[in-house]
Amino acid sequence: MGTPATPTRTQLDALLDNGYGLAGALSRLPGENLNYRLDAADGRRFVLKLAGEDQDEAFLTFERSVVDVLSAEGPELRLPRVVETLGGDGVATGYGGTRARLLEFVDGTPWCDAGPPSDARLRHLGEALGSLDRSLESMHLSEIDPTIAGRSHRWDLARAHQHRDKVSLVEGADRRRILEHAFHLFAAVALPRLGQLRRSVIHGDANDENLLVDGDRVVGLLDFGDCLVGPTVCELAIALAYGMLDSPDPLATGAHVVSGYLETRGLDGGEQEVLFPLVCARLAVTVSVAAERRRLDPSRGEWFVTEGPAWRLLERLADLDPVEAGRRLMAGLRSEPFADLGAPAEELLERRRRHIGPSLSLSYREPLKMVRGRGQYLYDRGGRPYLDLVNNVCHVGHCHPRVVSSGQAQMARLNTNTRYLYDGLTDYAERLCATLPSPLEVCYFVNSGSEANELALRLARARTGRHDLMVVDGAYHGHTAGLIDISPYKFMGKGGSGRAEPWVHVVPVADGYRGRHKGQGRDTGVAYGDDVGETLARLPEGVAGFISESLLGCGGQVVPPEGYFETAYRHVRAAGGVCIADEVQVGFGRVGTHFWAFERQGVVPDIVVMGKPIGNGHPMAAVVTTREIADAFANGMEFFATFGGNPVSCAIGLAVLDVIRDEGLQQHAHDVGTRFKAGLEALVDKHELIGEVRGVGLFLGVELVRDRGTLEPAAAEADEVVNRMKARGMLLSTDGPLHNVIKIKPPMVLTADDVDMVVRSLDDVLATLG
Ligand code: PMP
Repeated sequence: MGTPATPTRTQLDALLDNGYGLAGALSRLPGENLNYRLDAADGRRFVLKLAGEDQDEAFLTFERSVVDVLSAEGPELRLPRVVETLGGDGVATGYGGTRARLLEFVDGTPWCDAGPPSDARLRHLGEALGSLDRSLESMHLSEIDPTIAGRSHRWDLARAHQHRDKVSLVEGADRRRILEHAFHLFAAVALPRLGQLRRSVIHGDANDENLLVDGDRVVGLLDFGDCLVGPTVCELAIALAYGMLDSPDPLATGAHVVSGYLETRGLDGGEQEVLFPLVCARLAVTVSVAAERRRLDPSRGEWFVTEGPAWRLLERLADLDPVEAGRRLMAGLRSEPFADLGAPAEELLERRRRHIGPSLSLSYREPLKMVRGRGQYLYDRGGRPYLDLVNNVCHVGHCHPRVVSSGQAQMARLNTNTRYLYDGLTDYAERLCATLPSPLEVCYFVNSGSEANELALRLARARTGRHDLMVVDGAYHGHTAGLIDISPYKFMGKGGSGRAEPWVHVVPVADGYRGRHKGQGRDTGVAYGDDVGETLARLPEGVAGFISESLLGCGGQVVPPEGYFETAYRHVRAAGGVCIADEVQVGFGRVGTHFWAFERQGVVPDIVVMGKPIGNGHPMAAVVTTREIADAFANGMEFFATFGGNPVSCAIGLAVLDVIRDEGLQQHAHDVGTRFKAGLEALVDKHELIGEVRGVGLFLGVELVRDRGTLEPAAAEADEVVNRMKARGMLLSTDGPLHNVIKIKPPMVLTADDVDMVVRSLDDVLATLG
């Protein structure tokens, strides 16, 4: 809070004399604001408060009205009532225009000086806060001046994330991890909920210096300078954060306060869910602000009084499951505070072994049981949030409400198949084609990327009358028998036959980092493109087509160098083949600069294959091609996919396109992706292990090597990084033929704050590796 310059004694005396006709002994009170105790000559006691720079007339009037409301009908608390000036005003103006108020002195022992609290005192604190909040809820928000209602400040708990970047000011990797976790919990669990919670005027700083006690009772509340309009539950969370400091059993201590609160006000489901994350966030704000102040002036001890206890408490709370911690805090509730979370992970693992095919793998050494998703986050059974950095399927965010409700509404209205006429199919086909360059204008709808690629191969074969295919080394195109045959990722990988079928022709991946044409600048792409021509020259029968992802996912987040597709497509077309772009991983705006990744290289494929993000998790996929190819395919045999293009899928597909457009997600992917890449690139100089950072938009890769000269892959290290990041609440994976590339392809709603957290955390994880 902005504080005016410290006044001189003469200035204060003049202010008191002119404003109130008072004189007496003045002593500065502890705290960051300019507050003075006045022992007046006539024996009365007051507190003189100088207004901070951000406390204008309107705020001071508001602050007074809050105390008035509470005095009239609030809890039995002694409050600092405003003393009127000689002119009958609440505010006195002194030297240099400084505004001041004189308040009645409130007697009582500050909570922090009253010794360890009894259970009864804790409970009474809860009761007093509950009735305080109820009284403040009687102030109608619509009647509050909008500038006051919109006021915020650095201690505003609903905006705790404003301090997130201060994590890097903290000494010690473990402390940074803990603090990062507290902010992450706030951002992922509390922040998305806060907007829907009950709002009211809150005192906003019921800390251990502002609460006055007498025995087991809370008898007074001071300092309304942090009053604001916000989620009411923040009031309780702030008081809890202080009340639990230095407690031998913080959650039991907190539970006493909460049970008192429940007596007088109650907490609804949303408030219950955010309470624990808010307590952690308040502690996080305290230690973050302390870290910042330490930089400014390490000698001002009074700035950091609660820093040590706040760290100790945060350290104890950080490793708790939020659901478990929430349950303990709300032990006094009659109902269960969290919805049914299903069976624990160990039990599911056991049951899965019995009934699910063993070739399905699980991510991470200790598999996660997820119970819900929202935006860029997944939440496990313990309520821990995970930042999802790998799921490019939930493109516009997990469970996006517009997508969900479009699907639900259509499912309740009509679901049939493409042998009937309905608007959704044609509406969607038109919208999809509008995203593509001419002459791509004919759609086929299926249910998975694999099905779409199978169909693409059939189209290519129908058009050319040939069977052979040209594929890129390391590529994956799907799980069907036919696609495993054209996926070197599979047939050369574990359990594969180790060789290509005679009709499959593998060309090198256009890898500018470790491939055979690396380091040729602009010519690298052309050289790799010419490899395609060379292979074709050895195939007099030609090929039906050349299939490649526009950026290679399983191949290791490889970005083919400029000129590659232009050259390769030229060779393929000259030999009578068609060009297929597999955009299953990278399409729909992910690359930021364009809607489709192939557009980056200025080429137009003959067939485009779409999957994963197209339905935001709903199983759908599409193939879009030219009229010419579509006509060649229409040889009399019917094409029909039972579920492909059904009304529900079309409604969902349309909603996804709407959200991408309305939320500006392509531009967002560009902006956030650029920040992400720059952040990762800044780590290259600090960590030898990083061989290369590559990618575009929100499709990025970090290749780890043990030696920057030999490029020896650091696969074990990459795996370790991924598992340690998971332990910190960030989901990544490894891929590439050498398993040493960390993949990043998050939902497109990832924020700049998320990016900064990932970069800071990777920095710490890499520093402690090996
Ligand atoms: N193509 C690419 C590039 C893919 O990454 C995938 C899936 N990982 C597929 C096709 C197959 O898609 P699906 O799993 O939906 O069949």
